Amino acid sequence: MSMLRVGVLGAGQLGRMLALAGYPLGVACRFLEPGPGAPVAPLAELLEGSFEDPEALDRFAAGLDVATFEFENVPAGALQALAERCPVRPGPRALEVGQDRLDEKCFFRELGIPVPSFEAVDDRAGLERAVDSVGLPAVLKTRRLGYDGKGQVVLREITDLEQAWRRLGGRGLLLEAWVPFHRELAVIAARGLRGEETFYPVVETEHSGGILRRSTAPAPDLDPDISALARDYASRILGALDYVGILALELFQSREGLLANEMAPRVHNSAHWTLEGAETSQFENHLRAICGLPLGSTSPVGCSVMLNLIGTLPDTARVLAVPGAHLHLYGKEPRPGRKLGHITVRADEASRARELAERVEALLEPPDAGIGG
Ligand code: AMP
Repeated sequence: MSMLRVGVLGAGQLGRMLALAGYPLGVACRFLEPGPGAPVAPLAELLEGSFEDPEALDRFAAGLDVATFEFENVPAGALQALAERCPVRPGPRALEVGQDRLDEKCFFRELGIPVPSFEAVDDRAGLERAVDSVGLPAVLKTRRLGYDGKGQVVLREITDLEQAWRRLGGRGLLLEAWVPFHRELAVIAARGLRGEETFYPVVETEHSGGILRRSTAPAPDLDPDISALARDYASRILGALDYVGILALELFQSREGLLANEMAPRVHNSAHWTLEGAETSQFENHLRAICGLPLGSTSPVGCSVMLNLIGTLPDTARVLAVPGAHLHLYGKEPRPGRKLGHITVRADEASRARELAERVEALLEPPDAGIGG
């Protein structure tokens, strides 16, 4: 088979891991990114240009077999313009739904997927009404451009409204009931070009400050019925969007059952463990799916714990001295709150993976607390 050419919008660490997964398959990635200094720069062809510049899109799309995105805030119009030049997978609709928290929640509801109660908030009086309807505590979130806990404020008391409004008011907002969850879970699914679906084991995810810190795969002590339900919810989304590629669905496991938090129509941080901990990584399966190739096995290889490196980097030699620890650095300059890399600890037994992860964790800076603004 000749070389396949895949275009990727965005050029961060997700793109970097896609490029790396492409090499052994004979898949060459080309990236388009507006700014300089992208993590993919040393690894693959990188074009600098705006996603919305037709000339940049022409250069980017020339000779591509298929295009995809690793960055969720690509303007939907840019993806549509790209789709006129080459096949784009997953399609623009998946990107659009995932970009607006309100549309996303309505979409989940239409598919019969339970979500925390929510109300749209368009003005200050609307916030009061939403609090009456949703109750407190609640989370006020921007509809668009929020990620990793950014654009979110927790409201505990009625007196918190004023400050929350000062921080986020003026934008399209959403008030969502605070879910006293037992834990957070994520299901990562892959859907191929012919509609075939496969799922990685459901993982437990732990966040602090709204940022993923750790994922444990498979999620410990997970009731098989909960796991089946998580897959069923993901499958409904895949089918409704005629999706191709990797999709992540983040969930709350709570007394009210399983509630959907959000989806990401791309490779996702909660499945980085698949690089060592699954037969086929999420990055390889995304490329396989969008290129119309058969999907690879999503079976876990033992048990994995993935730890994100946020803001600062630990000593490489000390990390690598821990058995089963796999270090991935993204080539980014350290900055507070920035994802700089991750470490996956893999072992045959869950208890051993946990124990080794604790040893790695002792080498990391403790996270800051609280959802950010
Ligand atoms: P998000 O960007 O919406 O995924 O939020 C980031 C993190 O904030 C989530 O993974 C949760 O840990 C927390 N969070 C967001 N929304 C809620 C909610 N309604 N109830 C409880 N925790 C939440």
